[in-house]
Amino acid sequence: MAYLVFARKYRPQQFDEVIGQSHITRTLANAVTSGRLAHAILFSGPRGTGKTTVARILAKCVNCESGPTETPCDQCRSCREIAMSNAVDVFEIDGASNNRVENVRELRENARYMPAHSPYKIYIIDEVHMLSDAAFNALLKILEEPPAHVLFFFATTEPNKIPITILSRCQRHDFRRVQIDAIIDHMATICREEGIDIDRKALGLIAREADGSIRDALSLLDQIVTCAGGQITEEQITDILGIIDRKIIFDSAEALFGGDMETLLSICDRLYSQGRHLIRFYAELIEHFRNLLVMKMGGAQKALSGVPAHEKQVMAEQVGNISEPWLTQILNTLFEDEWRIRQSISARHAMEMTFFRLFQIRPALSIDQLIEKIDLLRQGAATGQHEGKPPEYTARPAGEEAASEKPVSETETGEAVVFDSKYEPAQPAGQPQAKEEQSSDLTQGTNIAALSTQETWDALKKRIAQKSPALGACLGESTLTEITNDNLKIGVRAAGTNVNLLNSKKNIAALEKICGEFLEKSVRISLDIKETENNHLNQKKEARSLKEEALNHPLVGAAVKTFNGKIVDIKILPTGGRTQ
Ligand SMILES: [Zn+2]
Repeated sequence: MAYLVFARKYRPQQFDEVIGQSHITRTLANAVTSGRLAHAILFSGPRGTGKTTVARILAKCVNCESGPTETPCDQCRSCREIAMSNAVDVFEIDGASNNRVENVRELRENARYMPAHSPYKIYIIDEVHMLSDAAFNALLKILEEPPAHVLFFFATTEPNKIPITILSRCQRHDFRRVQIDAIIDHMATICREEGIDIDRKALGLIAREADGSIRDALSLLDQIVTCAGGQITEEQITDILGIIDRKIIFDSAEALFGGDMETLLSICDRLYSQGRHLIRFYAELIEHFRNLLVMKMGGAQKALSGVPAHEKQVMAEQVGNISEPWLTQILNTLFEDEWRIRQSISARHAMEMTFFRLFQIRPALSIDQLIEKIDLLRQGAATGQHEGKPPEYTARPAGEEAASEKPVSETETGEAVVFDSKYEPAQPAGQPQAKEEQSSDLTQGTNIAALSTQETWDALKKRIAQKSPALGACLGESTLTEITNDNLKIGVRAAGTNVNLLNSKKNIAALEKICGEFLEKSVRISLDIKETENNHLNQKKEARSLKEEALNHPLVGAAVKTFNGKIVDIKILPTGGRTQ
């Protein structure tokens, strides 16, 4: 027997053998058994996803001698002829080469006659969007009044090119790209059957390349089996298909995260000398970082459908210790430079430039981490306590490239701050020395019980400002409205910019900790948010005063000074919107 390519040899003959399109095959099976099949059906979707295969199975369903049935017998004359593509009553027409009006007129003429020996005359028109306007018009005439013995099954990759008049007379079924794991499974079954020695990782490379098309996957598999003998390795596949080894993508990301420039440059060099497509490598790197970010953000499984299961596990490990903002920064830089690399005469050097830039990017900090850092800076500046630890930050004057290591206090002179990635942000509580000193100067000789509510609050605020300048600043206009056994109620204005910042689990917990230490007992803190009496008339005034408040806020001042920046815009956000 002549050699049959896998795509033909393993072409599904029954609905339940079709991969990844159960939403369509189920509907069609129901339509056949309930006798509600439409006269014109349109199958649309990407190439190689099973449109004509499903059309043929459907033809067998209605023309099978034991039909109509959802499981054609595959034994009768009709079933066998359809499988061999030589059935007298089923016409497979290529729309691309029979796109003229004469072709459709001929079809209409022919359709008037009854089928030879089947219940239906079936026209399967592939690539139907290729028909000319006149041909579509001729087709419309027969679709408007189709003879009872005629069925039309259309297939197209571009349904948008089909006139609406035709579309409105068709029942439409949209085929999906087949999920990568389903393609791998299908190929694995075939390989077992054929005695081909190949593992899932290697099949994953082929499936990626097929981009959701079963037919493409099987054609590539054919090509590889023909070229390679014995056990098929990933290396053979990357060589034969000229694609990038997945391990290289993972290794590159690892090198970027680890600041390992040597490895990354040697990868570039290797790909270049092997004659690999560098722009393709870069595109895959972008895709990989996109997937890592999706995963880091707890992304939906659907958003990662192009990633095989075995890779997801490795990705989860790779992204474990990497912060979301850093990933975003990397992805952003890769995207920004993509166009430049595509345009460049030397893609390799352009790409290396991007990698140099990426190595210069420090892991970005989240807003919370930034606030903590500012607090720490101000604490350090106020108490002069920063020995005994490695420098948390290196400071350099804005606009100067060479970073010089400087002690923390020098940042008070108004220089820009650069956070060094090598050191994790230290928690304010992680400086026991400072804590000891501070607690003595406030509590020694102070009899808390003898203080009035106002005095207690003033002392507390002072302590909070020392421990966390950011929180202290937020409490500027607050009052202590209620103090019972272990409950403190803090009064703040609802319209104040501080409320959003204060009213988070994390900050309330921080306040409780500081106050608890001060009062030497555990306390619970609640906010007494006072509605201001503003109405529509004075809302503008309120907005203005809010902006002024923000502008004069000590924290804003400190941030501007610390980063040597300037205020570009002040936006008023709705209150109560912040959740942690
Ligand atoms: Zn049959």
